[in-house]
Amino acid sequence: MTKWAYRFGDGSAEGGADMRNLLGGKGAGLAEMSNLGLPVPPGFTITTEACSYFYSHGKSYPSDLREQVERALGSLEHSVGAQFGDPDNPLLLSVRSGARVSMPGMMDTVLNLGLNDRVVEGLTRKSGDERFAYDSYRRFIQMYAQVVLGIENHFEELLENHKLDNGILLDTDLSAEDWRTIVTGFKDLVAQELGRPFPEDPQEQLWGAIGAVFGSWMNPRAVTYRRLHDIPADWGTAVNVQAMVFGNMGPDCATGVAFTRNPSTGTNEFYGEYLVNAQGEDVVAGIRTPQHLTIAGKEESKSDLPAMEEVMPEVLSELHRVRRRLEDHYRDMQDIEFTVQRGKLWMLQTRSGKRTAQAALKIAVSLVAEGLISREEAVGRIEPASLDQLLHPTLDPTAKTAVLAQGLPASPGAASGKVVFSAEEAESLAARGEAVILVRNETSPDDIHGMNAAKGILTTRGGMTSHAAVVARGMGRPCVAGAGDLRVDYATRTMTARNVVVAAGEVITIDGSSGEVMTGAVPTIQPELSGDFGTLMGWADAIRGMRVRANAETPTDVRMARGLGAEGIGLSRTEHMFFQADRIGAMRRVIMAEDETGRRLGLAELLPIQREDFAEIFRIMRGFPVTIRLLDPPLHEFLPKTEDEFAEMARLTGRDTEAIRHRAVVLHEVNPMLGHRGCRLGITYPEIYEMQAAAIFEAAALVTRETGASVAPEIMVPLIATRKEFDILKAIIDRVGREVMEREGVTVPYLVGTMIELPRAALRAGQIAQTAEFFSFGTNDLTQTVFGLSRDDAAAFVGAYQRLGIFEHDPFVTLDTDGVGEMIHIAVERGRRTRPDLKLGICGEHGGDPASIRFCQAVGLDYVSCSPYRVPIARLAAAQAALAGGEQDPTP
Ligand code: PEP
Ligand code: MG
Repeated sequence: MTKWAYRFGDGSAEGGADMRNLLGGKGAGLAEMSNLGLPVPPGFTITTEACSYFYSHGKSYPSDLREQVERALGSLEHSVGAQFGDPDNPLLLSVRSGARVSMPGMMDTVLNLGLNDRVVEGLTRKSGDERFAYDSYRRFIQMYAQVVLGIENHFEELLENHKLDNGILLDTDLSAEDWRTIVTGFKDLVAQELGRPFPEDPQEQLWGAIGAVFGSWMNPRAVTYRRLHDIPADWGTAVNVQAMVFGNMGPDCATGVAFTRNPSTGTNEFYGEYLVNAQGEDVVAGIRTPQHLTIAGKEESKSDLPAMEEVMPEVLSELHRVRRRLEDHYRDMQDIEFTVQRGKLWMLQTRSGKRTAQAALKIAVSLVAEGLISREEAVGRIEPASLDQLLHPTLDPTAKTAVLAQGLPASPGAASGKVVFSAEEAESLAARGEAVILVRNETSPDDIHGMNAAKGILTTRGGMTSHAAVVARGMGRPCVAGAGDLRVDYATRTMTARNVVVAAGEVITIDGSSGEVMTGAVPTIQPELSGDFGTLMGWADAIRGMRVRANAETPTDVRMARGLGAEGIGLSRTEHMFFQADRIGAMRRVIMAEDETGRRLGLAELLPIQREDFAEIFRIMRGFPVTIRLLDPPLHEFLPKTEDEFAEMARLTGRDTEAIRHRAVVLHEVNPMLGHRGCRLGITYPEIYEMQAAAIFEAAALVTRETGASVAPEIMVPLIATRKEFDILKAIIDRVGREVMEREGVTVPYLVGTMIELPRAALRAGQIAQTAEFFSFGTNDLTQTVFGLSRDDAAAFVGAYQRLGIFEHDPFVTLDTDGVGEMIHIAVERGRRTRPDLKLGICGEHGGDPASIRFCQAVGLDYVSCSPYRVPIARLAAAQAALAGGEQDPTP
């Protein structure tokens, strides 16, 4: 026989905390509190299985449910010493929903159930308070009519009219007689709307309420909430039927909610609110101003309403005991609900409390200090992605905002500034000390200086791995990408969305954590990397096996990465070093040259610049490995495009504009991402890689001499498809290395390895590993090439693919472990078979994504590399991956 109803209360329960799936969060909490001997009004929980049965059997109940409910109700009556529906000694019930995970406010509740015209008289006699009895009755009719009978809310109107007609301002001034009249009015309203009288039979009321709670699992609000939070529809909700306790029986009654610690800061202080002479929904409804539990809380919020500590000191002491008992038992901060009836405390709910990232850290660290949890548990409790909240300025949550458009949350943090539509404008305004937001349809390498100068970046096109997104994350600039509703008109220097026109120079705010674009300046709060952050990260570092490096190339970013705990550089994109205004000219000269001699002229100019850049990275990352990638980008990214740029190029090279334009046309590619880029540049123009290798070895020699400690660069070749390509380029690097070392008289230990970012390279990893000393998985390109999906164009339809369930996640954000993952798995296995000590890492954007990091651990990578601001996230995620052990099987 299936058990559908589980009793609780009176110091014991049939269920417990471990039965959350069956009893729902609320039911499990009530049962557990009963087992702990805490004061819980007795009741019973109808299981989530009954809900599943209800939906799989045409909304009907299991045949033995009624009998089990009757029996549970009988035992409830026995323990309370009152009868449901008995006018002489009435028992009233609350009927509340409760799913496995909390779905706040999504489902239905009915309180004061069991009242009718006769029972209300009994309640009057029993309580000695007619006003209370009729107030409860009208609350019940109103709630039942809305929740169970589906009658629209005209009740408040009727109540307001009664008050107006009788010159009454406050509900508390209404007499028993007033409530009696209002009850009659409410019942007439129901009869009118329903075509039959309000149900007087308590049993009918009870089954109506149970049906309504089950029914509310499928209401549109709940369905939407489940979709947004990935909650399966077949979980169902439980129904908790419980003896009513009354917080509205007079001045010695109250109702309240509390967190056992401060949920914003994590401070170990009791944090809660209550209302005297009220029922639970009054606190939530926000009609009356709640009062603080403690005098400290009252003083902090500058409230002049008395604290519970002053009004009901014994109850507060009792609550303090409950708080300690619950925290000791659950070993976590709890969110509780309670009611005080005539000076006696009753607990109505306990669950793990929601908290900010800052509070989560403080609570986890404190609980370890208090001996309640281990360091491993503390590390496991922090959501890695939530650390973002701590690293960037965030919008002041109390600020009012006017949202203009919605894009992708491409790089976290919030920023306000004047709108500019070009990188040049961004740079010149920023030079004058102005805060600017650079707005572009999309960004290109030409815009880097403007992006660097801007406080934030907003684009109308492109996805999470678009140029703007990758560069902004690398720089730690907030970025909203792909805000498709926004129309940018460069000619008039305006942008438009939702009929609002914003001109250059006007102030907007972007929130790179939510993707929102807002008009005006919204105040932000600066992050604080408190001692708790350092403590918890230290524990994470001790647990994890994988190393964490950063993708960075500018000294600022490398320093930032080191400060955030990066243990080396996993990717320096050398092309990013050429975008500054004073360098792009020389770079263009290299690209536009008609022959090798012309190229070598430009390269000679770039060599000292590169050498100094590399030296600076080696200095900052002293003692840690640094991977430098040779030039990778599609050539076309460097081509001059505008007439001004053609003219500038002509001036620099002493050639005429027409020749420059012609060369640009010759170099133009139809599909640059699959064109003349990556190692193909090194193969066709070996002098480029020669110069870069020389700069690396010379810088290493320089810093070795400066510091006395050897510098061991890892030189990485991008976009290899064949071992032949790699061998040709490795021979050049080795030769240049020998030459420099001989010339400088310094030994530079170095490795030459390759990125694995093409399927062919993954498949041929066994051969490539014969000469390559390390692999770094470039999962941005590998995702692009395994799917045949352009990383720059995918944003337009990935959303639709996700909605249709074709993609579970955006594969450019979270690694597609089935497909791209299989490629990586093959490459790891074949590579290591050839070279067992092959060093393996990942440097695509996935290196900073917690779910992808779990895969990296499972597949056996040595390190992950990600943008500097993601380093702490990766450190924590790597520790959690280590704690999870080999839970995820990487074998497809
Ligand atoms: C990659 O392809 O994953 C990678 C790291 O290189 P990039 O993003 O520079 O192409
Ligand atoms: Mg790549």
